[in-house]
Amino acid sequence: MYLISPRQRFINYPAHSEMARMFGKHRLMIPLALPTVAALTPGHYDIRIFDEEIEALPKHGKPDIVGITTLAATSTRAFELGDKFKGMGATVVFGGPYASFMQEETLMHGDAVVAGEAEGKWEKCLEDFENGRLQPVYETTDYISYKSQKPPRWDLVNMNRIFQVAIQVSRGCPFNCDFCLVSRTFGQKMRYRDIDNVVEEIKAAPSSYFFFVDDNLTINKKYAKELMKAIIPLKISWGCMCSLDVATDDELLNLMAEAGCFNILVGFESLNPESLNESHKLHNRGGKIYQEAISKIHAAGIQINASFVVGFDNDNLDEFDRIFDFTLEHHLPNVNLHLLNAPPGTETHKKFKKEGRLLSCDPELGVGHFPTLHYMNMSQIAIFDKYMETIARLYSFDTIRIKGEALFSNGAFTRQGGEISVFMKARLSWITFREFVLTADPDRKKLFTFILKLILTKRISIDKGLGFLLSMLGYHRHIQDHKRHMEEYRKIVLSQDKGAWKELTINN
Ligand code: SF4
Repeated sequence: MYLISPRQRFINYPAHSEMARMFGKHRLMIPLALPTVAALTPGHYDIRIFDEEIEALPKHGKPDIVGITTLAATSTRAFELGDKFKGMGATVVFGGPYASFMQEETLMHGDAVVAGEAEGKWEKCLEDFENGRLQPVYETTDYISYKSQKPPRWDLVNMNRIFQVAIQVSRGCPFNCDFCLVSRTFGQKMRYRDIDNVVEEIKAAPSSYFFFVDDNLTINKKYAKELMKAIIPLKISWGCMCSLDVATDDELLNLMAEAGCFNILVGFESLNPESLNESHKLHNRGGKIYQEAISKIHAAGIQINASFVVGFDNDNLDEFDRIFDFTLEHHLPNVNLHLLNAPPGTETHKKFKKEGRLLSCDPELGVGHFPTLHYMNMSQIAIFDKYMETIARLYSFDTIRIKGEALFSNGAFTRQGGEISVFMKARLSWITFREFVLTADPDRKKLFTFILKLILTKRISIDKGLGFLLSMLGYHRHIQDHKRHMEEYRKIVLSQDKGAWKELTINN
């Protein structure tokens, strides 16, 4: 049996692919889907996992059954693989968000779709496959209790090619933002794993670096505190996604820092209140609350990865400048900026489809930097050019230096992270020296000198200082790579540009 995660044709900078390369890896981490599905598979199958981002498929393998996970951005490749393996006589089963919500199209390239969460359905699908009565769709709205999960099969993944492992402790989201699939896939009622079960998984994992892929790790503060207390002795380093209200609970924030949290990804989504209302992201409230929360999180020695989306009907090009200024004012160097997409299954997709505003472009463009919709107030080329200009400004070394100096001056980032090998330390030190000392760029040199001074005066730990320099360098390089492809990218965008939707509808 092959379990495959297809490669993406386009990778956007928040994927940290450049950073992974500096670590000598192919990716920082891979999705949890395949090792999780492998753990559900009965022992008599000989399973091979291929995440094409880290490992090519063998040229001559002939599996009897193939499981392929799909996102919109990988669907083109997924279907190509489905056709290929079907042609070789294999049974092809698709899973993942794109297959779950685009079943008819998916079944043209495979034999079955396991929709939604895999537990229970994947096992049933295999039983039917063995008995020659495979059904086209395995789908149920009954959610599993999720209290106890089998540990993902990391033993089947080439761990030399990734840096950290994904882990999940909960499923569901009580909110229902229009552009998101989480509550539509996993329900609005939260389900949590037993903490002992999580601890066992961490202890058995082949890395001491983790990313909690829960959509909001701290939404249930009581559970989050218990989890933190249980993982403090494990001495791991980790990041997660959560909302800013984590800062309203000092005890929780301190426990997270003590438990090894170095970074949280916060979905601000928009700074435009009308766009938040429009997308039903009603629990994000800005103003002074943002200021206080961000300062508290930074004071706890935790960095914030601020995520934003532009392209709502109430947005215009000024949103980009608003986001740039906000991140400068609040000392936020890590910014994930995306153009609004409408993945199948979301309310946003339904709305744009109904209004005839989905671009008829390849779904693989849905990675965040290509326009895939008719935006109300912006043409495709205008939003694309402004996006590219903004990410270049966000990750210029001038901007990074200003934010870095403001962020690290207070001496809050002194906690040491997890252990890395001597070889890795030497490798990262050499890259830092090469890129920040042997350079003619005065902003890089100034930033390096500033961080070095903080390290020598023990106002930042070595790993935090180097980690910051290298992560910023990774973003910067990726964006330089985008620039090299601008001609090709602009051609793609111009070929589908019809102007702002508002003007189109007025003119018609
Ligand atoms: S965007 Fe976040 S808060 Fe909104 S539905 Fe998705 S996971 Fe929940």
